[in-house]
This record gives sequence, C-alpha cells and structure tokens, in this order.
Amino acid sequence: MGPVRRPVVIGSIGELLVEFVCAEKDGRNLVSAPYVGPFPSGAPGIFIDQAARVAASFGGRALFAGAVGDDAFGSVILDRLVADGVDRGLIRVVPGVPTGSAFVSYNSDGSRDFVFNIAHSAAARLPALEEIATGFLAAGIWVLHISGSMLGDAAMRAVGLALCEKLANQGVAISIDPNIRGELISDAGYIEALRLIIAMAAYVLPSDADAEVLYPGQDFDTWSGRLLSGAAEVVVLKRGDQGCIGRDASGTVALSAHSVTVVDPTGAGDCFCATLVTLLAAGQPLAKALARANAAGALAVQKLGPMEGNSSLAEIDGMN
Ligand code: ATP
Ligand code: MG
Repeated sequence: MGPVRRPVVIGSIGELLVEFVCAEKDGRNLVSAPYVGPFPSGAPGIFIDQAARVAASFGGRALFAGAVGDDAFGSVILDRLVADGVDRGLIRVVPGVPTGSAFVSYNSDGSRDFVFNIAHSAAARLPALEEIATGFLAAGIWVLHISGSMLGDAAMRAVGLALCEKLANQGVAISIDPNIRGELISDAGYIEALRLIIAMAAYVLPSDADAEVLYPGQDFDTWSGRLLSGAAEVVVLKRGDQGCIGRDASGTVALSAHSVTVVDPTGAGDCFCATLVTLLAAGQPLAKALARANAAGALAVQKLGPMEGNSSLAEIDGMN
C-alpha cells in the first residue's frame, strides 16, 4: 500500500473514562467477580488515541476536547493519550469530581452489559463550546469525529451538536460513529441528535447493531444510497467478525474479517473508525483505507482492554 502524504488534523470530543473489564462471563455486573483495570477508555478517547498513532506516520495531528478529574484515573487516561501523541490542550483537569468510568461484563451469547459513570463525573465537564470551536479551528482541524456515546448526556449532546454545526459551516468534515449503547439512551433527544449529525456528516460509520436501530428492515444499499445522495462521502458498515462494507461514489467494497482469537471486542469499532477516517482524510482511496481499518479492528480484539489493541500503521500493515 502506498504512502500517504497529506498531514491531516483530526479532532474529537466527548467522554474520557477508565474502564474495568469483568474477568468472568454472565454476571451482568450484578455478581461479585474480579475486574481488570483501570484501562484508559471512552469511545472518543480510544478513537483519538488511534488517530494520533496513525496520523503520526505522515506528520498529522490529533486533538481532543474533554475532561478528567484531578485523580489517579485521570492520570491513567492523560498519560496514555499524551504518550501516544494526542494534543491535550483542550483536555481539562477538573478538581472536585472524579474521573468518569465504565464497567463492562460480557455474556456467553456475545452481548455485553455496561455501567457508566459519565453525567456526574469529570467526563461530562467539557470545555465551553466557544473555547473548543476556537481551539480546533486555530489548529486547522479538517475532520471532527463524534461517537454517539457522547450524546447520552443532554449537556454534552448540546455541545456536540452545536460544535458539529459550527465546524461543518467552516468546511470541516464531520465523522459519526452512532455507537448506540442502550445504557446511555436517557431520552428521545439522543436518537434525534444522532440523526441530525448523520445528516451533516461526510463519514457515516455504523455497526450492524446501530443500523438495525437507525434503518430497521432496510438493506445496506438502500440506506447508504440515501446518505450518499446527501452530505455523506463515505458510508461504512462495521460487521464485527463478519468484516465490513464500505461505499463511496466510486462503488462498494466488502471485506471479510481477519481470522483471529477474540480476547476483548470492546473498542474495535473506535479503533477501526480512527484508522479509516484518518487515512480517508489524508487522501487514501476507500479500498486501501478500509483494508487497513479492517486489520486494525482485528488487532484490537486480540488485546484485553479497550485501547490496548490500538496500533501503528506499521503494525496494521503487518496484518495485511
Ligand atoms: P465497539 O462499539 O465495541 O467498539 P463496533 O460494534 O462499533 O465495536 P465492530 O463491528 O465490532 O465495531 O468492529 C469493528 C471492526 O473491527 C469490524 O468491522 C472488523 O473489521 C473488526 N473486527 C471486529 N471484531 C472482529 C473479529 N472478531 N475478528 C476480526 N475482526 C474483527
Ligand atoms: Mg461501536
């Protein structure tokens, strides 16, 4: 695969969390069991960490707006993001409230249960809208990525939506991973905000589960075609161990998943999206960017912890 040369500037915003992974299955976070963590996490945090790693290969930059508490868990997150090259200028350290957290427990049927602590934690105390917009634009941002997981909290949702509108009006490409988590749907405004962002997005990146909620009973050709006749430039369906399908104006590309042993699937989608969007924004054609994202997702599921399986472009190309 050829080198990518354009130095992309990519930004994201939302909840920064530490995550604890239950070491035993089927307890649904109800049963006392060993948990492994703290791991740095939060869907947009996983995304921006991977975007920074990929962008580093061609002089690009990754920026994040969010908040952590002034505590050990905050350090776990900040230290990792900074070590991996994320610009932390818009990550606040908020005194007096703990860092956000998530607890995940897996079930034998492949489903998972989360307990999130976002709304009443530092994770929800984002910098002010104007500060974020000014900072991102001053840095020359090209792409703003939103994970739907930040839309659960009404205050965060308002900032996310307004930021998308503001930056889209300035020519910034919006990227959206619906990333619908039942545990985070607090009111009807969640799906409404998601649909508004999807309508203005250049990159629309749902999973099979997201598509079932957003486009029930419709096949990929139908709903992706409708998005591509609007603002979307690229639509990708993430299909877990079934791989992925991507579509742009030049056609459709379907890839099967790499055959790997799954240790922890959480975070694969965020890692996949970051790899894909960073490369697309840098000018790489869909087929090449999708192949690299498909490999990044396969690398991600092989490690315990949501962002422990993030990877460099060199590691990704070692898979393909
Ligand atoms: P999450 O929200 O938990 O981060 P997601 O549902 O958004 O995940 P997935 O479809 O699970 O996203 O994973 C994204 C991509 O990662 C897939 O499209 C595929 O390329 C890769 N991937 C995921 N699971 C596997 C697997 N078991 N084996 C190989 N590749 C996988
Ligand atoms: Mg997801």
